[in-house]
Amino acid sequence: MENKNKNNVDIQEIEKFNLLAHKWWDPTSEFKPLHEINPLRLNFIKSSVNIKGKKILDVGCGGGILSESLANEGADVTGIDQGDRVIKIAKLHAKESGIKVKYKHINIEDFYKNTDERFDVITCLEMLEHVPDPNSIINTCSKLLMPGGKIYFSTINKNLKAFLFAIIGAEYILNLLPKGTHEYKKFIKPSQLQAWANSNGLSFDSIIGMTYNPITQKYKLSQDTSVNYIVEVSSVND
Ligand code: SAH
Repeated sequence: MENKNKNNVDIQEIEKFNLLAHKWWDPTSEFKPLHEINPLRLNFIKSSVNIKGKKILDVGCGGGILSESLANEGADVTGIDQGDRVIKIAKLHAKESGIKVKYKHINIEDFYKNTDERFDVITCLEMLEHVPDPNSIINTCSKLLMPGGKIYFSTINKNLKAFLFAIIGAEYILNLLPKGTHEYKKFIKPSQLQAWANSNGLSFDSIIGMTYNPITQKYKLSQDTSVNYIVEVSSVND
């Protein structure tokens, strides 16, 4: 049975991240892959939207690797995450680096219920595969978006190659991620993500892959979306 509460939160998933939170900013830790892909995803976002001065909501921000990098580029960033320890680490790190990000310990459904704020850009990276009902997250993101705004989602594709690379390879052979980080059944095909986006009034604008080369040990953006990928969607009625 899914360990779900009414706010679309899987408590076991949150605990997994809370337990490791103190290592979030160690680039050699379990979070190494997030540190390595961050410049790539930041560049992808910057290539399609000018983020300077924009109001950005980073959903499931974790320790703030993406949030800080967006704020560093002049964006006005709010980061939300359900993990209490995770958010403490994010706040501490931002203070130490002198970067202004508004962090809140809250899930997106509760955040939406308690705010009138709307955002130019919403980022929700590497989170959809950790929630019980990803469509509900997409729906709430769409309601928090300003007309003409853009949302970026990244997650893991669902096919044999994704299973072999993202679970067997990353968790069992290369030890890039702790065992149990990902569950195959929560992976999401781009066609599914597109259907959810469309059903929430969002147009599916572009998709890009992030591939890992185990020989060079480097990630790069590529047309290969068979494992990790990022999509850009926007509000249709603008
Ligand atoms: N987006 C960040 C962190 C990804 S790790 C990055 O890419 O750098 C996934 C994060 O999602 C964790 O910090 C976890 O606590 C958070 N999370 C999982 N389920 C959540 C939920 N329902 N609401 C808010 N945050 C959630």
